[in-house]
Amino acid sequence: MTHYNPPMPTNWNTIIGHDWAVELLAKAIEHDRVGHAYLITGPEHIGKTTMARTFAQALNCEAGGKPQVASGKSSTSDQQPTTNNQIPCGKCRACKLIAEDRHPDVRLVEPEVSGRGKPTLKIEAIRELQQDLNLSTYEARYKVAILTRFDAATIGAANAFLKTLEEPPNKVILLLTATDADTLLPTISSRCRTIGLRPLPTDTIEQSLTIRWHVPDDKAHLLAHLSDGRLGWAVQAAQDPTILENREQHLAWLDEALNGSRVARFDLADKLSRKPEQLPTILQTWLSWWRDLTILAQGPTRDGIVLTNIDQESQLAQLAQTWTAEQALASLKQTNLALWQLERNANTRLVLENLFLIYPLQPSPS
Ligand SMILES: [Zn+2]
Repeated sequence: MTHYNPPMPTNWNTIIGHDWAVELLAKAIEHDRVGHAYLITGPEHIGKTTMARTFAQALNCEAGGKPQVASGKSSTSDQQPTTNNQIPCGKCRACKLIAEDRHPDVRLVEPEVSGRGKPTLKIEAIRELQQDLNLSTYEARYKVAILTRFDAATIGAANAFLKTLEEPPNKVILLLTATDADTLLPTISSRCRTIGLRPLPTDTIEQSLTIRWHVPDDKAHLLAHLSDGRLGWAVQAAQDPTILENREQHLAWLDEALNGSRVARFDLADKLSRKPEQLPTILQTWLSWWRDLTILAQGPTRDGIVLTNIDQESQLAQLAQTWTAEQALASLKQTNLALWQLERNANTRLVLENLFLIYPLQPSPS
């Protein structure tokens, strides 16, 4: 396995992109206007937890001053707010322990993942966190709780947590992450300041991969396109070759389906239905492939539209001549529907059979 070791987060400068969010959080500390709760949203692997962890470092960095929580008691200290952009320093004990998720006052609470791959944040985890938050800090200025993927909270867990959000203990900062604010109870999201992280430009990801992670140019180019603007995904795929190998396999199965007869497709549906834990990723790969084909089938590529599967371009261009944009779009929609149905525990084999009924057949040679 090739390792491209990511640099340890040291300070705000090591966060790539999301400049406005960094500025907002750094300024909040600088001007003593830190809120009690933040909700960081964005797609998976975009950098939400990294942002939260770096904020926790900035709040507790030993090189920093003593910022006050906005709605807390006003500062009695004459100390000037810190304007040093070297905060967090990444070198002090607090910064290092937080980077390694070992700081006694910074708690990372993640959902449990069940056998079927479904994450759940249970009420027990919230209760345990609440007990901890009610104790005073060991060594830090702030107790920080980072609750990742809060959209996985059960109703019971979310309601239990609401109490903490409404009356947070003194010196406690709550940082939640979720893909979308709309997936949370409005009573939760309305009590947080929302920081919405958006996908990064393909060029930014490509440059970061080559410069910071020393990924070879060709690979960086492909991964940047496949990443959908999620740097975390691109770095992970650069480090773990099985991610690209799996994609190759997903595309090979798609090729098998598209070149196969109805009978062959039913056999494939049967085979793939025995891999339920892999299916969401398989369908995501197919979805991006159909999106590319739909764009190409609609005619000459317009400026600004970038294909995802750039290594498939010649094959896609050829198929764009064979099938109409309507056929490509129908397949795209059905793939999206299949994903939606699988999330709701529909019969896997039926979902795949329906999908393959919509996928166009190759025209028989005349
Ligand atoms: Zn530090």
